[in-house]
Amino acid sequence: TLKDTLVELDKKHFIHPTSSLKQQQESGPPFIFTEGKGVYLTDISGKKVLEGMSSLWNVNVGYGRKELAEAARDQMEKLAFTNSFSSFSNEPAIRLAAKLAEITPCDLNAVFFTSGGSESNDTAYKLVRHYWKLKGSPQKTKIISRKKGYHGVNIGATSATGISPFHQMTSSLAPDFLHVDTFSTDALRDCIAKEGADTIAAFISEPVQGAGGVNIAPDGYFQEVRKICDENNILFIADEVITGFGRTGKLFACEHYNVVPDVLLLAKGITSGYIQLGAVVLTERIHKELIALSDGVLLHGYTYSGHATACAVALKNLEIIEKENLVENSRLMGEKLLNGFKKIQAEVDIVGEVRALGLIGAVEIIDPVTNNRFPTLISPKVSAECAKRGLIVRTVGFEGMDTVVFSPPLVINKQEIDELISILRDSLLAVQNSL
Ligand code: PLP
Repeated sequence: TLKDTLVELDKKHFIHPTSSLKQQQESGPPFIFTEGKGVYLTDISGKKVLEGMSSLWNVNVGYGRKELAEAARDQMEKLAFTNSFSSFSNEPAIRLAAKLAEITPCDLNAVFFTSGGSESNDTAYKLVRHYWKLKGSPQKTKIISRKKGYHGVNIGATSATGISPFHQMTSSLAPDFLHVDTFSTDALRDCIAKEGADTIAAFISEPVQGAGGVNIAPDGYFQEVRKICDENNILFIADEVITGFGRTGKLFACEHYNVVPDVLLLAKGITSGYIQLGAVVLTERIHKELIALSDGVLLHGYTYSGHATACAVALKNLEIIEKENLVENSRLMGEKLLNGFKKIQAEVDIVGEVRALGLIGAVEIIDPVTNNRFPTLISPKVSAECAKRGLIVRTVGFEGMDTVVFSPPLVINKQEIDELISILRDSLLAVQNSL
């Protein structure tokens, strides 16, 4: 059959990102998806599944959006691509930069385009160090990030990532990256005191950690972080690659904390994954200082920075998010999701803490006897049971976690949340009964 042929070709030729190379050879791809509509995907055998993860936290407007295909086609027919180096420009990139300036908080007004989150991160690390160099402090090079933080896989982004398995692939990480405890402002203060504020360029964090297990900051944490950064002349970079564009029930998660970063990192939801795009947004203050102090060419840029087709798709995607009130839907459906988690928590003994902010959430698995993690990971069994019943979820099993995480498309409705919760409940009970 076609499926058998594709499975064999996949095993032989397709190196999957973040995958077990051995397991791929043994079992092949669990799904070969062929179509998507709204929150559902269909695979090559005709099986339909509810997508509880928006793929990689990014398909915010859901699958099968003809408007986005049309925006891409229209732009491609006119002018698919032209580079933005030196003074060349194109209308979709200009309009998207202006749109991002309008919708991002306060004076975050100047945009550098990338093709994804890892590129946004490595770009930001270079830009903040360049900024301090121009300001006469070239020794301010260190970047502090948080344990369990995820920032991508380029060499800088891997080094900033605070999930230790990601550091084990190679021992050659980038210098000048430090990691502090996830929610401890004391740890941040201690780190700054130990290293010396005059050696630190920036502090970076996700407003809600995604890949590290959906960790939501306690009240006051980010306000205190902002204060510490200001007191020590350290820039604050918010990595909103997952949380941007409505994921948490606000357009940007920083708005929950009334904190404005100096640098805002975007990707994923900027196009809902329909095409590759990322962005680094700087405050007007930093942009103006860079212009005033600039001593030559900004020698940083990707071939695809400001890609006309990607920017045209992003503009249409932002129009959909606004027109369909998806940020508000994320907030409302997020409350319903959390209520569903709480009902399951009351009913299923192996469920520990549950949490959600908008449509990003997590359910922790614990041994009810010890109130700790089981000796072996249970969450992969839960995700396998969910998949059998038609629900895609993801699990986090490092840094002492045994957690099922969720991030459904922002277009999800009440019935679909009920379906997600019902499948999750049945799957958890099935796993519990098998232990
Ligand atoms: N930053 C965060 C918070 C992310 O979640 C991710 C990807 O999951 C990245 C950066 C890296 O983005 P990309 O995979 O587009 O390079």
